Amino acid sequence: MITLTEVNKFFGTNHVLKDVNIHVKTGEKVVVLGPSGSGKSTMIRCINMLGRPDSGRVIVDGEDLMEPHAKLKKIRQEAAMVFQQFNLYPHMTVLENLSIAPVMVQGIKRDIAEKSGMEFLDRVGLADKATAYPGQLSGGQQQRVAIARALNMHPKIMLFDEPTSALDPEMIQEVLDVMVELAHTGITMVCVTHEMGFARQVADRVIFMADGQVLETGTPEHFFTHPENDRAKQFLSKII
Ligand code: ATP
Ligand code: MG
Repeated sequence: MITLTEVNKFFGTNHVLKDVNIHVKTGEKVVVLGPSGSGKSTMIRCINMLGRPDSGRVIVDGEDLMEPHAKLKKIRQEAAMVFQQFNLYPHMTVLENLSIAPVMVQGIKRDIAEKSGMEFLDRVGLADKATAYPGQLSGGQQQRVAIARALNMHPKIMLFDEPTSALDPEMIQEVLDVMVELAHTGITMVCVTHEMGFARQVADRVIFMADGQVLETGTPEHFFTHPENDRAKQFLSKII
């Protein structure tokens, strides 16, 4: 579903991704771990070309995204991204936030987009907030709305970049619960997170990055109990 091959990215002279190779199968759940500044966000942004590599190949759902005529719009709908900051439109209700992109970008009729929007709101436990404005919701609720909004694009892939790290501790679990449930639907997921419990529970595979490189990949059981790479050992000793 997702293949990054020999991906390199520079910011000025800063070599941020160094020959990164990542392959994610359809339906696979991958958690990306690594210290701050290791290139996790930069990598995940390459999957939907929010950031463009300087070299290498990025193939998502059969589409070569480095080709000049790649269908980036299609891929950005297929690979929906949820960020640390929820970026909801403050002047729109929750349900309007959910239906705007399907209506404006995908050309779906408003009543249909709103109907499926209500179903996703129900799935994240917020059906009663459809007419509320984002400012009236807690951080955890806003992030669940952001997830429902992404789902209302009917993506094949969900990309998460530290979706819980801006939340107060008591709100983290409600968002993780939604993500766990989502994982069980069979959707392909790539998730940058520091939530090790989530990684153990959900990930088919963990990818460890440091200094712009993928240094280790393996099942959570193996990675958390027998990390092989020294940087991975060091990282785990600090966080567990
Ligand atoms: P964190 O865990 O703190 O989110 P990260 O692993 O996501 O870190 P990145 O955000 O991908 O790391 O950053 C990798 C490197 O690229 C860092 O050195 C960072 O300073 C640099 N970088 C990231 N985005 C930009 C940008 N837009 N312009 C210049 N440099 C950038
Ligand atoms: Mg980051």
